[in-house]
Amino acid sequence: METLNSKTKYIFVTGGVTSSLGKGILAASLAKLLQARGYRVTIQKFDPYINVDPGTLNPYEHGECFVTEDGAETDLDLGHYERFLNVRTSQANNVTTGRIYSTVISKERKGDYLGKTVQVVPHITDEIKSRFAKLSETGEYDIIITEIGGTVGDIESLPYVEAIRQFKWDSGTYDCIVIHLTLVPYLKTSEELKTKPTQHSVKELLESGVQPDILVCRTEYPLSKSIRRKLALFCNVKINAVIEAIDAQSIYDVPLHMLKENLDKVVLAKLKLATKSEPQLNDWKAFLQKLKNPVSEVNIGLVGKYTELPDAYKSIIESLKHAGAQNECKVNLELISSEYISEANVAEKIGELDGVLVAPGFGERGIEGKIATIKYVRENKIPFMGICLGMQCAVIEFARNVLGLADAHSTEMNPDTKNPVIYLMEEQKDVTEKGGTMRLGAYNCELKKGSKAQNMYGTTSIMERHRHRFEFNNAYRAQFEKAGLKAVGLNPEQDLVEIVELENHPFFIASQFHPEYSSTVLNPHPFFVHFVQAANLYKQIQER
Ligand code: GLN
Repeated sequence: METLNSKTKYIFVTGGVTSSLGKGILAASLAKLLQARGYRVTIQKFDPYINVDPGTLNPYEHGECFVTEDGAETDLDLGHYERFLNVRTSQANNVTTGRIYSTVISKERKGDYLGKTVQVVPHITDEIKSRFAKLSETGEYDIIITEIGGTVGDIESLPYVEAIRQFKWDSGTYDCIVIHLTLVPYLKTSEELKTKPTQHSVKELLESGVQPDILVCRTEYPLSKSIRRKLALFCNVKINAVIEAIDAQSIYDVPLHMLKENLDKVVLAKLKLATKSEPQLNDWKAFLQKLKNPVSEVNIGLVGKYTELPDAYKSIIESLKHAGAQNECKVNLELISSEYISEANVAEKIGELDGVLVAPGFGERGIEGKIATIKYVRENKIPFMGICLGMQCAVIEFARNVLGLADAHSTEMNPDTKNPVIYLMEEQKDVTEKGGTMRLGAYNCELKKGSKAQNMYGTTSIMERHRHRFEFNNAYRAQFEKAGLKAVGLNPEQDLVEIVELENHPFFIASQFHPEYSSTVLNPHPFFVHFVQAANLYKQIQER
């Protein structure tokens, strides 16, 4: 294949037995170890569904939609990749079956395959293979790790497994390996770990012509030598390539578990790459040390409408962990459904918390609960942070209860309101298609000198990521500012309000952008860091 950059090495991560084994965390942990040894690594995710991207999926279907700097709406695993590696991903790091097919179909319409019958093999598999290698063209990476979504054996995974088979065949002996993540379940009644599901899953891969090079086995109990030997024998892998992935206390422990199992060394040996120096993981270990040995504790509420599924708020939850560790403070997070909050019960629902974060979201459901929450934290001076819809609700609440505009609303919820304090962005007015059409990705923001936000960032110019259609209505800006809700972050190109903060409140800050997309283990986001700090302070004052 001419696109195959011979200098780049490729690692594929497939999953067997069941979904939710943590392929994303495994890929990110391995990448971390290789990066810590000095290799330039990136990770990409191939998802076997037909949506062109996950942007149109309800969070209940697929968890959070993660947004990259270049404005791609992607799988939440890309968030893990960025948080672990502290490097940015892009549109090219997430590919779906829908994207593959739409490329092939538009090529067919253009006549690129003129005269040929367009088929899964070779046309779809060729497109998959060229995307496997796409990031090598930049010359920026020594190693590309590709995670294949879904489970081997699914109908929709078949073209990907076939593409891996061909790709491996096209590659040099030491240029491409396959890691298969499986489950070794424990049977309580017979008190033993069972290898059969893994054997079957490997057989499934073998039927498609793919021999995994390494098995990573999720397990509740340590794998004995004899279990490892059995897996090695039946799955045709060397015994040192049977890697135990025991349940971890935190996802951030997984790189160290994999290090103990020598996953990085086994991978490097199979790719004939030098092990170089020992991995430099001091910063990572320092983070874990703080995460696990907090000196204080706060209770924070995350008020949103997808609270039954924490994956819907993955990046926010992880950002709070990073910020907690930075403050050596344990963050106990309570997910609270805004649908069941009203002015009558708000004190009971959130009154005991040390900080409240109102989540991003779409649509009418749960809006009034969010607004009641914000009124309560504003009046009771509880630290508050709002993100995207959370900021919009803060603006609506202030308009209604401080400015006295009783019917103030966002036109998203009430198109006929007399006081549209949040309304559709100009550029959105002619948009009819839903997919990939929001204001997406990183935009500039200038911070007002002397504002709390500027203090937190320690700079006046920032870039943050967005995902929205509605915005603060500037016709009301002077009124808000006069009453104390200040626009302290502005997009200079379009004069859009990006951050509001409240005067005479210990911590009340809300942003139109999503700070959670850019918080990483080694670079916790200042908003979250200061929010946890404020919650900690609030708690101490309450206890006095
Ligand atoms: N629904 C709001 C908008 O589109 C907020 C979006 C969000 O919270 N991500 O502007």
